[in-house]
Amino acid sequence: MDQIIVKNLEVFCHHGVYKEENVLGQKFLVSAVLYLNTRKAGRSDVLTDSISYGDVCRMIMAEMKKQNDNLLERVAERLAQKILLDFSMVEKVSIEVKKPWAPVMMHLDYASVKIERSWHKAYIGAGSNMGDRAAYLKMAEEQLEKNEEIRNLRAAKVIETEPYGYLEQDQFLNTVYEIETLLEPDELLEVLQNIEKEAKRTREIHWGPRTLDLDILLYDHFVTEEETLILPHPEMQKRLFVLEPLCELNPYGVHPLLKIRFCDMRDELRAMEQKNRRMEIKG
Ligand code: ADP
Ligand code: MG
Repeated sequence: MDQIIVKNLEVFCHHGVYKEENVLGQKFLVSAVLYLNTRKAGRSDVLTDSISYGDVCRMIMAEMKKQNDNLLERVAERLAQKILLDFSMVEKVSIEVKKPWAPVMMHLDYASVKIERSWHKAYIGAGSNMGDRAAYLKMAEEQLEKNEEIRNLRAAKVIETEPYGYLEQDQFLNTVYEIETLLEPDELLEVLQNIEKEAKRTREIHWGPRTLDLDILLYDHFVTEEETLILPHPEMQKRLFVLEPLCELNPYGVHPLLKIRFCDMRDELRAMEQKNRRMEIKG
């Protein structure tokens, strides 16, 4: 990806753990690398097709002076977040905050913290089979949309499906949301679990009735294996009620482990279910 770089922007401000640092202040040097596609601006020669590094510098300066933080980690995190939220063309950003006068009573060139942050694409599976099912799904969508660290939500059509696993329960409404998010996978899971809680979700029977179930299906091409967060979702390839709405949003997406397109997974599962139904009728 192309880069716009600001190197060692000098800012005098008051971050630090020590009281003296907060009172006296000191020099900070901020470097930012903004990752974006500059092709359009490269062809048009028009500033609005790109990002003004002057604006970036002014934003960094204002954000540095807005509040006093203890840690360089916090300063860097705030700058990265602000750049990703304010300059929507930026897909990824690297921020380094240096303290050349770090009070350690030894000589050093500087102490610094450097981080990389970016937008991530995630797919969330949603289901409800208790109470006002449509209202629970609507509530989930609204809560996600309200989150500052989520943007560009797209929802697939809501479909009605037969229960899965535990069969003695009502029909489900299901859908899938596509989002872009700054949240890390475990933070996204926590956001989803809080929305479930708000819908008064209780866990009684595994795969049993629920007001609202929100699962992370995919998070970029991330693969994880912890019990608390398995990615991609381990059951997604077996569930038509996931694959149908997912294919509406991204039919040609590829499963990161199985390396099969979602539309091909869906077609295979559809064919298998049809075959099973024919066998049932015959039997
Ligand atoms: P299910 O979704 O299988 O019907 P629950 O919603 O009760 O069951 O989830 C049980 C646990 O599954 C959660 O506490 C969560 O930590 C874990 N989990 C593992 N991987 C995922 C994932 N990709 N999305 C959501 N939850 C997950
Ligand atoms: Mg779940």
